Amino acid sequence: MSDSTPTQIRLDHYPTGIPGDDAWNITHDPTPELVDGQVEVDVQLISIDPGMKGWITPMRSYMPPIEPGDVMRSFSIGPVTRTASDRFQVGDVVTGFLGVQTTAVVDARAVRPCDVSVAPMELHLGVLGMTGFTGYFGMLDIGRPEASHTVVVSAASGAVGSVAAQVAKRCGARVVGIAGGPDKCAYLVDDLGLDAAVDYKSTERSIADELAAATPNGIDVYFDNVGGEILEAVLQRINDHARIVLCGGISGYDDMAGAAGPAGYMKLVTTSSSMQGFTMKDYFHRIPEAFADLSGWVADGSLRHREHIVDGIERFPEALRMLFTGRNHGKLLLRP
Ligand code: NDP
Repeated sequence: MSDSTPTQIRLDHYPTGIPGDDAWNITHDPTPELVDGQVEVDVQLISIDPGMKGWITPMRSYMPPIEPGDVMRSFSIGPVTRTASDRFQVGDVVTGFLGVQTTAVVDARAVRPCDVSVAPMELHLGVLGMTGFTGYFGMLDIGRPEASHTVVVSAASGAVGSVAAQVAKRCGARVVGIAGGPDKCAYLVDDLGLDAAVDYKSTERSIADELAAATPNGIDVYFDNVGGEILEAVLQRINDHARIVLCGGISGYDDMAGAAGPAGYMKLVTTSSSMQGFTMKDYFHRIPEAFADLSGWVADGSLRHREHIVDGIERFPEALRMLFTGRNHGKLLLRP
């Protein structure tokens, strides 16, 4: 097969639990001809996201699931190679739902341009893309941290969490990150400049004890990416009028239909606290605002980020599983 042979990753069936290799099929279908208003894109990077598990679960979440046989949905990026639209010229770099495939043909209105003179492509899928915007809006709009606050962020070394945590630091808060393992915890303190890190995989102390040591004044804002036991432990330490930002619940993504809510939710009553979920869909119209701030902070070096690139479109199934075992270090991307 030559390098230019179009390749697609298609869903075989809705998997139970975290998808194995058998959930996917690789196809080499020819690229369709362009019709009016479409562009062809040479997909150069594919964003690997925990939310993909929701797209292959047969229930509607914030987007409908894809169907078995469909090309897997993904945010991807690459240059336009052919155009039947006056919106883009050949060579323009665009991002959008281009799918897990090497070449995409899409409606030009469904993609947005990326200025690669501001930052390289990988940043447009990470810190300057959907995951960065999610951390930014979730923390600033819903968490609303203040200098007197203790803010806790879970999956804090990941794509969304690392931005949310650093945004809270910029607001002057004391920020505690939760991550799995000593290396990620060292990254939170040494590289991201957080005040403390909690290793939820520590075998020496329980998550409750680790959190108690790291948050002596309780917790005012919690940015939740994981749900489950960590959310339960945080609930036990919230202060009056705390705000819990429900961004994701990756610990329950192996059984999305059966995910249970927190047992300790009465703490919200006794502390007059709130929990609010959100998705980036609420904020699409405000992307320019986030982009302006985040790109400025990346340019002046005050916002740290890291990308983890896996090579080879055939490694998509393995790459997706990496998110659920914490094998990614930063924004996970696939280079087809
Ligand atoms: P990350 O880069 O953070 O990668 C996922 C991380 O989750 C892993 O590296 C791992 O980190 C952690 N993790 C995996 N399993 C568990 C578990 N059982 N318990 C605790 N932590 C676990 O991914 P993203 O930044 O892309 O996504 C983070 C969250 O944000 C997800 O829940 C995602 O669904 C959500 N999200 C929500 C959006 C929205 O619009 N609301 C948009 C985008 C993402 P570790 O090694 O530290 O365990």
